[in-house]
Amino acid sequence: MARDAAGAAAAMSDAFLQGRVAVVTGAAQGIGRAYALGLAGAGAHVVVADLKAEAAEATAAACAALGPASLALTVDVSDRASTLAMAEAVRRRFGCCHVLVNNAAIYEDLQSAPLLEVDIDYWRRVFAVNLEGPLLCAQALAPMMVEAGWGRIVNQSSVGGWMGRGSHYACSKLALSCLTQGLAQQLGRQGVTVNAIAPGTIHTEATMKVVSPELRAQMIARAAVPIEAGPEELVGTLLYLCGDGARFVTGQTIFVDGGAVARL
Ligand code: NAD
Repeated sequence: MARDAAGAAAAMSDAFLQGRVAVVTGAAQGIGRAYALGLAGAGAHVVVADLKAEAAEATAAACAALGPASLALTVDVSDRASTLAMAEAVRRRFGCCHVLVNNAAIYEDLQSAPLLEVDIDYWRRVFAVNLEGPLLCAQALAPMMVEAGWGRIVNQSSVGGWMGRGSHYACSKLALSCLTQGLAQQLGRQGVTVNAIAPGTIHTEATMKVVSPELRAQMIARAAVPIEAGPEELVGTLLYLCGDGARFVTGQTIFVDGGAVARL
């Protein structure tokens, strides 16, 4: 249906996600927590899905403090039974699901061995969480979006897929952008868009552990916008993708990296 520009702007007004139900994986901490709070701030009911039960409860409580009822679930995104149980719990509590943010991932071993020496069990674990996890969550939750005739899936990729191809992490994130395109093709006619956000280096507890201060400084200096970015720099892009104003945007990977990849 056609709409005018003023209507499109109104779609981004305060609480534009009121009545929507959003599941954010890996939202106990870091970027996922910021995404959860941003969605709650826009009026959505947020389901905080994470392995870390206590921290997930804390995020859900912070979301609920912003207004909409929220829920914490202990979920392992790499486990099919766990993702199906999550979908069941979401349906029981809210009756539907409109937004899935596939943010959970592991990257504690970024400086991995050369690919010819990489430990294949660790490779499989990285792919199970970072690539199969988003697929399993989409399989579990997208049917509710299709039922509603409206949905948004946002996958968390990384500039690592473009800048750090020598690691299992980079391979998993580049493959996630490919999965994004495939799901976008298959769900577009049912009102569901599927996009990816590829952040540059973002200051979180986890990056503090795996990226040395020297490397962080180098990466910041390489960017066109050389700031030390926190998770909040990503929230505007997520909200844009979740709004009605982005209904014609699908299958994309959006770099939110201060221009780091643009310089390659
Ligand atoms: P983080 O480690 O702080 O948070 C990840 C969360 O995912 C944790 O709460 C963890 O418990 C959860 N998780 C891990 N495995 C899980 C599983 N199997 N099931 C459910 N939950 C699980 O990481 P972060 O820095 O906040 O990064 C979040 C996302 O952003 C990841 O996808 C990461 O690859 C991506 N990313 C981060 C950066 C960065 O610089 N921080 C840059 C690019 C992309």
